[in-house]
Amino acid sequence: MTDTDTATVTSAPETAAPRVLRNHVAGAWQEVEAVETLTDLDPATGAVLAEVPLSGTAAVATAAAAAKAAQREWREVPPQVRARHLMKFREVLDTHRGELAALVTQDMGKTLPDALGEVGRGIESVEAAIAIPHLLKGENLEGVARGVDVEMVRQPVGVVGAITPFNFPAMIPLWFLPFAVACGNTFILKPSEQDPLPSVRILELIAEHEIFPPGVVNLVLGGRETVEALIDSDDVDAISFVGSAKTARIVASRSAERGKRAQALGGAKNAMVAMPDADPKVLAAGVTSSAFGAAGQRCLAGSLLVLVGSEAEQDASLATVVEASRALTVGPGGSESTDVCPLVSSGARDRVAGEIEKALGEGAEAVLDGREASAGEGGANLGPTILDRVAPDAPAAKEEIFGPVLTVVRAPDLDTAIERVNTSRYGNASVLFTTSGGAARAYRHGIEAGMVGINVGVAAPIAWFPFSGWKDSIDGDLHANGTDAVDFYTRKKVVTSRW
Ligand code: NAD
Repeated sequence: MTDTDTATVTSAPETAAPRVLRNHVAGAWQEVEAVETLTDLDPATGAVLAEVPLSGTAAVATAAAAAKAAQREWREVPPQVRARHLMKFREVLDTHRGELAALVTQDMGKTLPDALGEVGRGIESVEAAIAIPHLLKGENLEGVARGVDVEMVRQPVGVVGAITPFNFPAMIPLWFLPFAVACGNTFILKPSEQDPLPSVRILELIAEHEIFPPGVVNLVLGGRETVEALIDSDDVDAISFVGSAKTARIVASRSAERGKRAQALGGAKNAMVAMPDADPKVLAAGVTSSAFGAAGQRCLAGSLLVLVGSEAEQDASLATVVEASRALTVGPGGSESTDVCPLVSSGARDRVAGEIEKALGEGAEAVLDGREASAGEGGANLGPTILDRVAPDAPAAKEEIFGPVLTVVRAPDLDTAIERVNTSRYGNASVLFTTSGGAARAYRHGIEAGMVGINVGVAAPIAWFPFSGWKDSIDGDLHANGTDAVDFYTRKKVVTSRW
């Protein structure tokens, strides 16, 4: 981060007059003949930020045709030259880091430091994709028969459609875009209809700075119908998706029916296991930031706390976590004192409050009840909630709530804790707090999750590694980022030659 950036993020941008957002196709902004129009609200204030038109089949077809036409030229651009386009993209994003973060805060609600972290992670994906000349290298084997050689080359898949969720409105589009275009594909982004402003700004930056040739990166605004049209389009060759497990399954199945490759990253119920020997400070900081950061709206949010040990040891760990959670400040993401931001909408807050009520009805005990946290005028605040004595098979222990709610279950020892965590249908992230190397080793070996944290509350891999969920946290084999991204965005061609 540069010093200038720090200066630019001291406050969120002024709320502009609502504007009607547009698609960006073939290098130009296009008004959308909308099937429906939604209003994008600031979750902290309820202020109207923009009108979001939802694109139908015709608008998607226009974007897909433009992306297909642009791909014919783009695939011929040498990989090291494509990398230079990404270098320029990286510089522009870096210069606008603070502005993008402020926009994430305004549109999604998370705190400015969190938003800066998100934008930083997105920029790292661009940095990782800049290595594309190395990453695209193939394989060869000389002399498989007398005078016969075999080589494998990687070629782009074609047009990639990317469908992204509301909770990382800058980072997740930037997981997919750099690797897809670095591999020689062209790209259509369909951001979440709930907070598309960071995506719109990224497209503006691409256009203003002429970072890619027209048609290489396109934007279509929309919702379900738009996604269906993207998947159904014969001009779209691959789908990268992130969202809930339910939508991931729909997207993956529909893509499979059309013979289209898809990577569909879904939801999660991430466990955090607290050993009695955990350092209390590390435990308190790790659990609270994971469970309540971004108001629990991260796919890596720890939402299940498994207390290990005797009853007294379990109670001591819980007391440490409850005390730290009580001290958190709930408020707007733009305020420096805020730890727990609003949810993305008042509808989301009401849904999560309903889940808390349901869990209490099923026997849970609220050791901290966040529903009393004051809701700002038109805002969507909900304080941290900790539900103890939840039965291991109760919905609150099994299913994603996606809010600032931490469910507590108990286990006498580490083996039982691992067994309990592994019953989950999800396998995104899993975290252990301990000071024992042996416990850490047993956990990382035995736990069924693709991303494991040891004394790290949010175990998010950097972009040079795959974002590696397991089980129902992904439909598809290849993850976002790392060499998985290159495998997903390329087709392998094997040439056998005799001269
Ligand atoms: P969502 O599934 O509601 O929406 C995601 C995207 O799918 C949006 O662009 C939306 O327009 C589209 N969509 C919604 N319903 C659809 C349907 N029926 N058919 C086709 N498209 C549809 O998810 P969300 O609420 O925006 O995001 C939160 C979810 O995303 C959480 O479950 C979270 O765990 C998950 N998530 C997962 C990861 C990961 O890496 N595994 C990362 C971030 C978020």
